Amino acid sequence: MMGASAAERLDAVKAEIARAARLAGRPPGDTVLVAVTKTHGAEAIRPLIEAGQRVFGENRVQEARAKWPALREDCPGIALHLVGGLQSNKAADAVTLFDAIHSVDRPSLVDALAAAMARTGRRPDCFLQVNVGEEPQKGGCAVAELPVLLERALGAGLPVTGLMCIPPAEREPAPCFALLAKLARRHGLPGLSMGMSADYPTAVTIGATHVRVGTALLGGRA
Ligand SMILES: *Cc1c(COP(=O)(O)O)cnc(C)c1O
Repeated sequence: MMGASAAERLDAVKAEIARAARLAGRPPGDTVLVAVTKTHGAEAIRPLIEAGQRVFGENRVQEARAKWPALREDCPGIALHLVGGLQSNKAADAVTLFDAIHSVDRPSLVDALAAAMARTGRRPDCFLQVNVGEEPQKGGCAVAELPVLLERALGAGLPVTGLMCIPPAEREPAPCFALLAKLARRHGLPGLSMGMSADYPTAVTIGATHVRVGTALLGGRA
C-alpha cells in the first residue's frame, strides 16, 4: 500500500477496522482511528486531513507544539491525542495542546495534570497506561498498581475515560489486549486504547475503542 495515496491508505485502514468489527459482532464505527503522525511533517499530514481524517496522535509535546497550531488553524475540528510518555514538567503544555492523553501512568503525573487542568480550565480525556507485559523499560503502571493509580486519578478529578497499553513487541498481542479489556471492565471504564499498525485488527476484535495507527497510514519513519 505504500505507493498508494494517503486517501487510499486511510480507506484501507478504515475498511480493516470495519471488517474486524464485523467479525467480532461489534457495531461499525465504535472504534476511533487515531492517526499517529510523529516524525512526519505537515506535507505528509495535510493529505490525510484533506481525505477527512480529524483525529491525530503525537508522542512528544515539543514536536506537537511545533507542528500542530498551524495545521489546526487551517482546519478547525481536529482532535489531537498524546500517545507517548509525558514528563510531569510538560503537563501544562500537554493539557493546553491535547484533547486526550493516553499515557497517564504514575501518581506524580496525575498530580501534575490535575494542577495543570485546574490552572488552565482544560480537561483532556485521560487514559491510564498499563504495562501489560511487565517490561521494566516500558511506560505504564504495573497491573497490580492500577487500582491505586485509578483511585488517585479519580480523587484528583481527572476525566479518566479508559486504559491504554503497548504489548511487548515479541509477544502475541491478543492476550495483552484481553487483559486490558478485562481490567477496564472490572473498573467500569469504557475506553480501550490498544492496537497499532501491526495488530489493530486484532485489537478491534477484542474491543478497542481507539486504535493508534502510524506506519500503515504514513509509511515508515526515518
Ligand atoms: C508510534 C506509536 C504508535 C503508532 O505505531 P505504528 O506501528 O507506526 O502504527 C502507536 N502508539 C504509540 C504509543 C506510538 O508511539
